[in-house]
Amino acid sequence: MRWTQTYIPTLREAPAEAELISHKLLVRAGYIRKLASGIYLYLPLMQRVIQKFSQIVRDEMNAAGAVEVTMSALAPAEVWQKSGRYETAGREQMRLKDRHGRDYVLNGTHEEVITSLVSGELKSYKQLPLNMYQIQIKFRDEIRPRFGLMRGREFIMKDAYSFDADVESHRVSYQKMVDAYFKIFERAGLDSRMVESDTGAMGGESAHEFMVIVDTSAGEEYLLFCDKCDYAANREKATFRDENPPIIDSEEKELEKVPTPGAATIEEVTAFLKVDANRLVKTLIYKAIDDKDNATPIVALVRGDRELNEVKLNNLVKAVELEMADEDFVCEVTGAPVGFAGPVGLKNKEITIYADHEVMALKNVIVGANEADTHYLNANIGRDFEVTETGDLTTASEGDACPNCDGRLVCKKGIEVGNTFMLGTKYSDSMDAKFLNSNGKAMPFVMGSYGIGITRTPQAAVERYHDDGGIIWPKDIAPYSVEVVPLNYKQDNIREAADSIYAKLSEAGVDVLLDDRPERAGVKLNDADLIGCPVRIAIGAKSLDEGKVELKARNSSEVHLVAVEGIVAEIEKTLKTLK
Ligand SMILES: [Zn+2]
Repeated sequence: MRWTQTYIPTLREAPAEAELISHKLLVRAGYIRKLASGIYLYLPLMQRVIQKFSQIVRDEMNAAGAVEVTMSALAPAEVWQKSGRYETAGREQMRLKDRHGRDYVLNGTHEEVITSLVSGELKSYKQLPLNMYQIQIKFRDEIRPRFGLMRGREFIMKDAYSFDADVESHRVSYQKMVDAYFKIFERAGLDSRMVESDTGAMGGESAHEFMVIVDTSAGEEYLLFCDKCDYAANREKATFRDENPPIIDSEEKELEKVPTPGAATIEEVTAFLKVDANRLVKTLIYKAIDDKDNATPIVALVRGDRELNEVKLNNLVKAVELEMADEDFVCEVTGAPVGFAGPVGLKNKEITIYADHEVMALKNVIVGANEADTHYLNANIGRDFEVTETGDLTTASEGDACPNCDGRLVCKKGIEVGNTFMLGTKYSDSMDAKFLNSNGKAMPFVMGSYGIGITRTPQAAVERYHDDGGIIWPKDIAPYSVEVVPLNYKQDNIREAADSIYAKLSEAGVDVLLDDRPERAGVKLNDADLIGCPVRIAIGAKSLDEGKVELKARNSSEVHLVAVEGIVAEIEKTLKTLK
């Protein structure tokens, strides 16, 4: 491709709202443009990246026995109502009405649609297992779209759905997808890690995420790995061993109200009362928002030395959205300023109180007294306050003890590029999708679903591989393998050499971009670094006089003078050495 025949609008400046380096670079290098918040246009370079990555995904999905289909982006609300997710999907689901006033959904995932496809038609165990996938646009009404292609309102996904006769067979299907995923990300030049994750809105039995580990601040998710065993989970799921168990008193002591002037934070209260944080119970007030936008207050209790995990909390609360209460709301619920909330004598007696397991084991705890500058000592569950529901509500952090061995958890940032869900019979039960087993008995399908972010993964690659000059693409998802840069295209012999190398490479089947713009050498070389093709051939007057051109790999600072004669072989050799 000649630069002047395509559309690569590079920019000197990054858009002000771009927070991630990968977002900045994709905009600056002319890969994407924003149409509206969370909605992006993929320009010619990005289109090539998407096509290359999609082809890798197709190859490996097909090799794993999955078959490609294309389902509709639009679905009638009834399909989602049948599974019950229309009510629970929350405000992230993009919805619209047609001209007759009927309700529709712009699908964010296709469990319902594919289950309705096979229901009644996929009838026999002899047709199983079956795995169907598609590469298609998805929609999500993000509350705060950000990070470019990472969290958009419209994005491209590969989504696959497996149907099996029983759990054993499903495990085989699941493992095939896991193996395919590792191959896909490896071929895209990315080291991926598979971690346990929360099943979230998808439901089902268990789930994993495939993450690309990044060193920058870009990772949108924290991952915790054990430094000794193979334990790995994201922070929504990770657990840890309690190494700091408090001394549990044998007797319940008398409830006592004490002044704690100005001590609102855990640090201030522990310092003032001269106690360890594990004797305190933190009282956190949240708004549980339902599908009608009503906010109900709820209370969560965790030990003073712990952080609350909102995802784990909402697994119990099951709200459409969970929002930390603001100052006014806290005041309204507890009658006290922030920092002095507590479960004893709450103004609202009906309020639901969720407590972490660790809190349940405590006796004579210190809690806020719902009065400014006041705490209670020796509060006890059952005597002074009641707990409605208990569960694991804490967040694991770097340095915590591994739940499985004596190792330590290490925290890294990662970008989720794929996920896999063991759905069990959640959708086949609710949507009445059954087949006849070998005994002629109607059974629900055991299902799995498997996603890969087709537009997100390339951005994760940019986040992983770049330098001050721009993007450094892994070769198999680069828009072009080689960029030929004639430093002065107006000069006859340079132009002739450039055109000839471009023609030879194209003939040899190498993806090549020729920068035939009448720009200054500096501008072209900067742009070549910015767009990030793995190999650059620069053609200047001085070396060309000796029959040579400059070959440089984007990931190296070394420049090699190579004879024009053997240039194709030399480039092919260089490409082989690159990841
Ligand atoms: Zn371990």
